[in-house]
Amino acid sequence: MTAAQPGKVYLVGAGPGDPELLTLKAARLLATADVVLHDDLVPAAVQVLAERALVINVGKRCGRKSISQEQIHAMMIDEARRGLAVIRLKSGDPLVFGRAGEEMQALRAAGIPFEVVPGITAAFAAAAALGQPLTDRRSASGISFSAGHHAPGSQLEPASRAGATRIVYMPGRDLGPIAEQLRGEGLPGDLPCVIVSRAAQPDQQIVRTTLARLERIASLPAPSILLVGEVLREAEDGELAGTGASVTVDVTHQPEYAGAD
Ligand code: SAH
Repeated sequence: MTAAQPGKVYLVGAGPGDPELLTLKAARLLATADVVLHDDLVPAAVQVLAERALVINVGKRCGRKSISQEQIHAMMIDEARRGLAVIRLKSGDPLVFGRAGEEMQALRAAGIPFEVVPGITAAFAAAAALGQPLTDRRSASGISFSAGHHAPGSQLEPASRAGATRIVYMPGRDLGPIAEQLRGEGLPGDLPCVIVSRAAQPDQQIVRTTLARLERIASLPAPSILLVGEVLREAEDGELAGTGASVTVDVTHQPEYAGAD
């Protein structure tokens, strides 16, 4: 196993938050890098693994950008040109909703060598928290990942999506528009929906509901992710009620999540 190389940029997936869910490669690179540029969502428990690096937060704060995307490109390029081993650390997997495309384009244009190190994306951490599969030969033959922020513009093809588990990143505070879009595609009101807040972190929370009731769910601590699909239906005997490490809130028994009836 080699250390992080000078003059190179590593786009590294930090996983969903639990440092034990990092790849060995990510941990090894973090321990040997000179500079780490990380997003806001990367928790302190992962950042501390960068023992000898200068660690810089280049993420958004409360939706406000402290450093522009172009500045991030310039920092990566400048530091690699100075002969430093640079890590661009992103939550989950670096190639999922992480602007990695723009960053790799900038690095290519500048002639800086780079390498991508995958991470566990939030969807997989959420499914693990639920103790439920995302596909099942009886009910879900596909998975779609989408970004809630763009939900109104990104109409999914209803026919081709039948039987797919939908995973919505960045669902936002108001789940109403997402529920409306999915209902508009003809999905039934009793379709199971699960919101997982801070998956794989100590304060993880799970809220289960249905598509018809989704808009009534009060927002949970960020980051959270929404999973929708038949495969998430709980067994009658409650056997699928999570892995034990999580708090499961059934909205039908929690008036504070039920909104105004
Ligand atoms: N590259 C990341 C996604 C970045 S977009 C990945 O692969 O997971 C940011 C969105 O990811 C958040 O708004 C949220 O929807 C989701 N997310 C990231 N970490 C999460 C976590 N620990 N629990 C739940 N959702 C998370």
